[in-house]
Amino acid sequence: MMSPCFIMQTATEDILLKVTNVCALCYSDIHIGDTIHYDTQKYHYLCQACQEKQCGQMNGECESIEDEESGLFC
Ligand SMILES: [Zn+2]
Repeated sequence: MMSPCFIMQTATEDILLKVTNVCALCYSDIHIGDTIHYDTQKYHYLCQACQEKQCGQMNGECESIEDEESGLFC
């Protein structure tokens, strides 16, 4: 599902060289061609797994939520 909190991108050599080549949360390697998600609130890239995790902890305004009203907007 689309989310305003993240911009889905495919990792390019450009991103890997100039921005990051690891996920900002779990530090797993990002490879060219991987699906990555740019966090528009925190200005960093997340891997697919971390993006899904983050989405589950956000409301529609991309704010962190504590409880399990999760997954509605992502
Ligand atoms: Zn990650």
